[in-house]
Amino acid sequence: MRICFLGTRNVDPELKTSLGLVVQERQQTILLDAGPYAVQGLHGIGLSPDDLQAVFVSHDHADHCGGIPALIMTWALASQKQPESITWAVPHDDLAMLTYARHAYPFFFTDTAPRRIEVSAATSLSGKDAFGIEFLKLDHTLETWGAIIRTPTASVAYLPDSSREGLIRNAPALRGVQNVVMSVFGSSSQTVDAARFKFCVAKDAGQLCAEWGSARLYVQHMVNASESAAVADEVGQYFEGDVIFPEVGDWLEIA
Ligand SMILES: [Zn+2]
Repeated sequence: MRICFLGTRNVDPELKTSLGLVVQERQQTILLDAGPYAVQGLHGIGLSPDDLQAVFVSHDHADHCGGIPALIMTWALASQKQPESITWAVPHDDLAMLTYARHAYPFFFTDTAPRRIEVSAATSLSGKDAFGIEFLKLDHTLETWGAIIRTPTASVAYLPDSSREGLIRNAPALRGVQNVVMSVFGSSSQTVDAARFKFCVAKDAGQLCAEWGSARLYVQHMVNASESAAVADEVGQYFEGDVIFPEVGDWLEIA
């Protein structure tokens, strides 16, 4: 399995990047969250929206789903992509950006396509056997889900925007997952705001990854990138594995 970050901050107007994580295995490509620059981000790593088989949306905040209208516009107007070849995994039927896209490009939607997968603790998505995906309900300022993606040889947990409590609740599923992608608000000095927005801070991330027995933590969505040294330091007080601040556009082989 290999992964590539389209962005590591909510939106970076200078780099023109936004949140989005591409996961690839044996020609199958999934996009986890689509921030406002998702289409540009895909082109930036040598892909296009046509290369996606499935899109998972964790929640309704714009930095995680603001790129969906442009993805659908591209498929509907500028490509040969058939709706039947796309699978959506979204938390609920009235996800604002999908509702908008359905209104704007009704001809792209039929009763059965794109296929929609109910994101719940009971469902899982398998991309023609390349992946297994399990969904985890997190805890944020609105309904938010994470996902564990597994192949026979690799596992990655994508855990966007959750309070510590929401992550603790999912410990049984997360134990043993080797690669963890987590939104980390900053270090403990910012705890008050982190609590308000229901994010975790570096201390939480370090303690949880240690408890789960993970090997690598990929930090995304930091509010202030200049905090990275403080975050790495604080995570390192609890977690002995690798702490990685991924570079946008780098393909990372994971096991
Ligand atoms: Zn959010």
